Amino acid sequence: MAGVRFAERYAALGGRAEVTVYGAEPCAPYNRVLLADVLAGRYDASGIGMPAGPAVLRTGAEVTAVDTGARTLRLAGGESAAYDVLVLATGAEPVVPPVRGLRAPSGAFKGGVHTLRTLDDCRWLAKEAAGGGRAVVVGGGVLGVSTACALAALGLSVEIVQQAPHLVERHLDAQAGAVLRSGLARLGVAVRLGTEVRALRGAERVTGVELSDGTLLPADLVVPACGVRPRTGLALAAGLPVRTGVVVDDALRCGPGVYAIGDCAEHRGVVHDHAGPAWEQADVLAARLSGAAPDAVYGGSRPRSRLTAGPLEYAVFGEAAGPDPGLEVLRLADATRGSYKKLVLRDGQVVGGILLGDLATVGALARAYERAAPPPADVLHLMTGQGA
Ligand SMILES: Cc1cc2nc3c(=O)[nH]c(=O)nc-3n(C[C@H](O)[C@H](O)[C@H](O)COP(=O)(O)OP(=O)(O)OC[C@H]3O[C@@H](n4cnc5c(N)ncnc54)[C@H](O)[C@@H]3O)c2cc1C
Repeated sequence: MAGVRFAERYAALGGRAEVTVYGAEPCAPYNRVLLADVLAGRYDASGIGMPAGPAVLRTGAEVTAVDTGARTLRLAGGESAAYDVLVLATGAEPVVPPVRGLRAPSGAFKGGVHTLRTLDDCRWLAKEAAGGGRAVVVGGGVLGVSTACALAALGLSVEIVQQAPHLVERHLDAQAGAVLRSGLARLGVAVRLGTEVRALRGAERVTGVELSDGTLLPADLVVPACGVRPRTGLALAAGLPVRTGVVVDDALRCGPGVYAIGDCAEHRGVVHDHAGPAWEQADVLAARLSGAAPDAVYGGSRPRSRLTAGPLEYAVFGEAAGPDPGLEVLRLADATRGSYKKLVLRDGQVVGGILLGDLATVGALARAYERAAPPPADVLHLMTGQGA
């Protein structure tokens, strides 16, 4: 997503160099954020493509090595290509938890076990789900919740196993997590909190999931959704700086003529795994390299997160989940409507917020958070839309 966004913006801003986008996946670039909606059948795969402007698209073209001295790259098929400037946008890959019995003797996942990261994964999961049955999603973060909703929409009986004491613990507080859990229950998704998957049962194919508290959940399908890690192998082998991600400076540079953006990049010690920061980085780099704003720098992204999973949705801004020392916190919860709203203020300025189940004021809250507009005299307006 970051690579293709860069290519599109670079040309739109007047960049004159020829851009080639190499992608290992067999299909044209697409909006990965919408994969759970494709799985649920809300979008067709052909409807989530992303424009790349006049760039040359090379699909099914995995880059296997980069020589930053000679400025050349090598493809899996043996072909080499020269470049003047290289932008790494290799994304991230799912973290697979160290669970006994996850893999068959061949080393591949056992039948019925699959992660969700690509359109191919989506097709595989949709095919498996067509048989109905019981699914267990391992991980109750944003990815686990959206995957669970999609599988439930396909008619499976779904259970999320979440290690943390509440859902989406990176973004939501405990109260919001509880409201989200009720929303999931209404969609037929059960949630087990504070417990881990210890092992998978079944020989060639999964038949059940064993939890750390001794419970055995029967399962025909298991989806690990335990976060992602930046894909850095190419950069590492090329001698580029890698910590968690490919280390970039404020110009998004990681080596001579080499830049990194999106989920693979680490900037000021932060690795993002969201489309928003990937977009912002792509836009800054396109402005720099096209000449439209040669001095543009990336100063970091303000934390924001959004989930839309069928009828369940939330938006989170900034410091919204923590214990709030020294901050002023306003909360509104409506159990019958399944909504929860929280506003976090420091010295009258909005520094965080959660809207769950009712996003009517999301635009006003986003503007106040980005300081694009001063908070209204009656900040309740940001939660209710009334009283400004
Ligand atoms: C199911 C799902 C739901 C999501 N929902 C949200 C959401 O609601 N909101 C949000 O902000 N974010 C969401 N995300 C995260 C978001 O999709 C990512 O942050 C975004 O895709 C990052 O873009 P990227 O370009 O860095 O990486 P990617 O989109 O992963 O693209 C990297 C591409 O590089 C290719 N590649 C890697 N190595 C090579 C190589 N050596 N040669 C050639 N090609 C290579 C990969 O095949 C891949 O196609 C979701 C992700 C998933 C999987």
